[in-house]
Amino acid sequence: MQYFSTRNQSIQKRASEAILEGIAEDGGLYLPASLEAARFPMARLHTMSPKEISVTVLSLLLGREELFPEEGSLEAAVARAYDGQFENGDYAPLCKVGKTYVMELYHGPTCAFKDVALRMLPELLAEAKRAEGVTDEIVILTATSGDTGSAALYGFSDAHGTRILVFYPKDGVSAVQERQMTSCKGENTCVCAIEGNFDDAQSAVKTIFRAMALPEGVRLSSANSINIGRLAPQVAYYFKAYGELLKNGEIRMGEKLDFVVPTGNFGDILAGYFAMQMGLPVGRLVCASNENDVLFDFFRTGVYDRNRAFRVTASPSMDILISSNLERLIAMVCGTEACKKYMKELRETGRYTLTESELARIREVFDAGMTTDAETAETIRRVYREYGYLMDTHTAVAWHVHENSERENKTVVLSTASAYKFAASVMDALGESYTDDFDAVERLQEITRVPIPRGLDGIRDRAIVHRHTVSRDGITDFVKQQIERKE
Ligand SMILES: *Cc1c(COP(=O)(O)O)cnc(C)c1O
Repeated sequence: MQYFSTRNQSIQKRASEAILEGIAEDGGLYLPASLEAARFPMARLHTMSPKEISVTVLSLLLGREELFPEEGSLEAAVARAYDGQFENGDYAPLCKVGKTYVMELYHGPTCAFKDVALRMLPELLAEAKRAEGVTDEIVILTATSGDTGSAALYGFSDAHGTRILVFYPKDGVSAVQERQMTSCKGENTCVCAIEGNFDDAQSAVKTIFRAMALPEGVRLSSANSINIGRLAPQVAYYFKAYGELLKNGEIRMGEKLDFVVPTGNFGDILAGYFAMQMGLPVGRLVCASNENDVLFDFFRTGVYDRNRAFRVTASPSMDILISSNLERLIAMVCGTEACKKYMKELRETGRYTLTESELARIREVFDAGMTTDAETAETIRRVYREYGYLMDTHTAVAWHVHENSERENKTVVLSTASAYKFAASVMDALGESYTDDFDAVERLQEITRVPIPRGLDGIRDRAIVHRHTVSRDGITDFVKQQIERKE
């Protein structure tokens, strides 16, 4: 499969190059040349195991001959990425809550859905290096609102030939998330707090990608969902959910399913759009935002406007005002010329406006809703009382949007994190206040009896090994120092 930049159709790359680069030379993101050509064999879906589904999606999107030419190598990579990493061996179990299906994507090592992609990304990078004959050390630069950081650190920890540098907003992540990151022991890992918010971290990382001069033998790449190698593995679970509901007789072949997705950087929901383009019968993709509701406004009005106050909410992994992956949707719907123009406007003025016909085309598929922090808490409490089902703050944002919209089709709500990862907020919703996240974890277990996930067991006692903090303006120098540092 060929890839091109969202800002220039004539910048064409192989999948392996796109994965290695992360972001295109003109600042655009890579898009597959034709998703229609990557038709998923729907007729066989009900006979496929989850691993076969992943293998099929990855080979359609990335090209088996290019990236995994050796017989069985893709299968082996998927097995290395997933075997033994997810509790009960299932990376996306479905749970029926009332009439709705909840897809629990958080049973991996760091208890958020990002594990699904970030267990796979190091395998894809290693193959991409091999395919391109690259022997350079790859430095993974990652901005995180909390969950990407820990999932990327654990995915890349001690991975051969790579180093990983993670930046997170100092006051924008939960204590549990912070400890997961700052206790990561891998020799090739580095974690740094930023005095700023997620967008500051992400913008700084993007600037470094565009402008930093690197020493010989070093390359930068990204573990953020701007990397196509991060997005591709996520497409698989949309097919997996459909396949399971088919097998269990919950839906008929061809019946459309709606997906409600708690959204931040627009990666997860975009993977659903890819699945749809590859032949999955999808009715609506519903984008659920928290109080940082820039996407909610965008889908209603066609105006993307980041000029607004950034809010720190109870669902911090969605505290984002610049949703990078939206650029991919814009390029797919409006073309690369228009996309380039809009992204320039966004950079210069903080806003852009779609034409009416562009907005209409997007709204054929996408719906949107938003949930306040108060509604999030109320939802967690009510769903727990009514159904005995415990959800985290991000999932509750999606659930609330789902409940408040009219759905024609059966619906899958994506659950993106374990309630334990945001235990203080969840306990607060259940009526008890804790200032200490770790106390909240213990108490949540006591009252709900939901087992603490393996990945968070003993989290409070893990030793902190990373203690860096830098200002927004200091990020570039910090990266330089780290890159030049010899082991
Ligand atoms: C990252 C994250 C999201 C948002 O996903 P995007 O792909 O950035 O839209 C939602 N919930 C949780 C728990 C996350 O970690």
